[in-house]
Amino acid sequence: MMMRVQIKALSLLQELTEAHSVPGHEDEVRAIFVDELESHGELSCDGSGSVFCERGEGPRVMVAGHMDEVGFLVQNITPDGFLQFVAVGGWWEHSLLSQRVEIRTRAGDKILGVVASRPPHFLPASQRSQIIPLDQMFIDVGASSREEVERNMGIHLGDPIAPVSAFTPMAREDYFMAKAFDNRVGMAAAIQSGQLLSESYHPNRLILAGTVMEEVGLRGAKTAAHYAKPDVAIILEGPPADDTPGFARSESQGRLGGGVQIRLFDPTAITNPRLAALAIQVAREEDIAHQVTVRRSGGTDAGSIHLAGSGIPCIVLGVPARYIHSHNSIIDINDYLSMVALTTALVRRMDQSHVDALTSYL
Ligand SMILES: [Zn+2]
Repeated sequence: MMMRVQIKALSLLQELTEAHSVPGHEDEVRAIFVDELESHGELSCDGSGSVFCERGEGPRVMVAGHMDEVGFLVQNITPDGFLQFVAVGGWWEHSLLSQRVEIRTRAGDKILGVVASRPPHFLPASQRSQIIPLDQMFIDVGASSREEVERNMGIHLGDPIAPVSAFTPMAREDYFMAKAFDNRVGMAAAIQSGQLLSESYHPNRLILAGTVMEEVGLRGAKTAAHYAKPDVAIILEGPPADDTPGFARSESQGRLGGGVQIRLFDPTAITNPRLAALAIQVAREEDIAHQVTVRRSGGTDAGSIHLAGSGIPCIVLGVPARYIHSHNSIIDINDYLSMVALTTALVRRMDQSHVDALTSYL
């Protein structure tokens, strides 16, 4: 059983992390969601492009992940054929220079480029140790004129740009490196949990969701929650790990191999305490490795979903990933498997009385 789940997990994670899916341009991940789930329920989309797969009877339990990754859009094409760009999502300039990117054209072609700046050899000493701002970087696609970029390559203003990075196993078994584990771990786990849950009975109407535009301020989740009207939501994420040099081990709450993260707080959402207690109880009873986190920073789709309608209880589960929002993030696949195990166990447990109890205050 575990072997079958792990093999499927790795193929899904490879396909999803290598997809091109920046905010507002999530077509490739949406297509994978549809392909994997069309035989598992009724598919639909809201007006922003978030996608849903529903099945079953009972309380409306949503399992959601965001489909987008941090990327860029073409902002300008210089007369000599270099691309200037704007970020969609949070990038740290340190992680960008010399990295490969792909521009997806309107025709669907992928054009390879590299992020560059004026080289240090030509910079005054005072500037060499400073961060180069994004608006002084450019993308070199190997063209020599704007006309060549537009006519021969089909690149236009506004075209989406994503990092290029192959899904790669590391020397240590169970560790994998790829771009966009934030949030392809969440997408893969939502898909896989849905597939596993359709193999046996559970007491609710399960709504699997892929949301758009999380990385630019939890935007897609607003319309997704309004559209799907869940009674309770489980948000699956790829949050940053804190187990590398520079962190105190005694303060780590997102360690690779520590299990699925159960988030109780971040500045965008306070987890419903009854739902938090239920998740921790289920993890203990089912022997699922987990780590509880209270975050001083960050935010997830729960920030939008818990405020929709008359208020929706939310919980955020996460697979900690090192170096998110870069070309090369790292996860331990066991944490992913723990997230799938806790998600499916929670959904099975979430019957009408459990769901009612989350919001009965009188
Ligand atoms: Zn995320």
